[in-house]
Amino acid sequence: MTEPVFTKIAIIGAGLIGASIARAAQEYGAAESVVLYDVSDDVRQRAAGIGLGNIAEDLKSAVTEADCVFLCVPVGALEAVAADAVPLMKAGAILTDVGSVKEQAASALSAAADGRVHIIPGHPIAGTEQSGPEAGFPTLFQNAWHILTPLAKGDADYAEAISRLEAFWTQLGATVETMDAARHDRVLAITSHLPHLIAFNIVATAFDMETVEQGEVVKYSAGGFRDFTRIAASDPVMWRDVFLHNKDAVLECLGRFSEDLAALQRAIRWGDGETLFNEFTRARSIRKAIIDAGQDSGAVNFGRNLPKGDEDESA
Ligand code: NAP
Repeated sequence: MTEPVFTKIAIIGAGLIGASIARAAQEYGAAESVVLYDVSDDVRQRAAGIGLGNIAEDLKSAVTEADCVFLCVPVGALEAVAADAVPLMKAGAILTDVGSVKEQAASALSAAADGRVHIIPGHPIAGTEQSGPEAGFPTLFQNAWHILTPLAKGDADYAEAISRLEAFWTQLGATVETMDAARHDRVLAITSHLPHLIAFNIVATAFDMETVEQGEVVKYSAGGFRDFTRIAASDPVMWRDVFLHNKDAVLECLGRFSEDLAALQRAIRWGDGETLFNEFTRARSIRKAIIDAGQDSGAVNFGRNLPKGDEDESA
């Protein structure tokens, strides 16, 4: 059995990601004690009811004496939660987050910094379209990337804190990668944020089309549409905050996407089968590269009865 990396961790926000960290830390012995706090009375009660760990009634009792505090709240709430948490934390502790946008997380967490705690923003590239404490499961981070975006400056103590946080995520089954925050936001804009925007949009368009009965949209959804509806079922608060806080990178990708879409539109209009065939062939080879890289399985997936952990959706 591997030694726990931390004696006590505090998880603020007991939703999908917070609950999964709690379950994984206990399952894989990465922390001796796990305390969770959520701003919502209802979430705290539900988390206690499903045995998620020690549930604190206030932020102070959660973060006091914690070696590492994980902020697992929507990105728009990070600055306020960090400002409340930092003065309550012990000197030398780590403050990290799991937010899907990293430049904004760096400034939100840094704004609260008082020189006593180590600020190390992070983002697990793992998730599902579910939310809430019941959605959490311990294998969520197995074989997933966990990206850390440390602040540029740091002494030997800061480097040691990064190593400990890396060891924690490794113990949860993740592979840790360090990246510049701006680069993270550009990469995730195209691999995660834009696909979610497209999914939200196509579902809305389908339901607004007067020529199609809504019952038919549901009935014939297997024709590709169903995969979009799964992504579009993701939490509206989380995704609102992602687009508000990764605005520039998303708008840049959206511009490129719109140009490429217009090119396909033109090829369809003019019957240019060669262009369509070449583009679709290129896209197919990218799918193959993703499967070859172990980022997805090539198994036929009808979206039904997937075991937990096979339903990954990076955010
Ligand atoms: P979630 O299931 O909705 O959980 C978030 C929890 O945080 C909710 O229970 C919410 O309570 C609580 N909360 C909000 N403000 C708070 C505050 N000020 N203090 C304490 N608790 C607070 O969301 P999630 O999917 O776990 O996402 C959490 C973070 O992980 C987000 O930043 C997201 O970008 C990131 N992330 C998500 C995924 C994914 O696939 N979902 C993947 C990677 C990273 P209320 O519901 O009462 O507001």
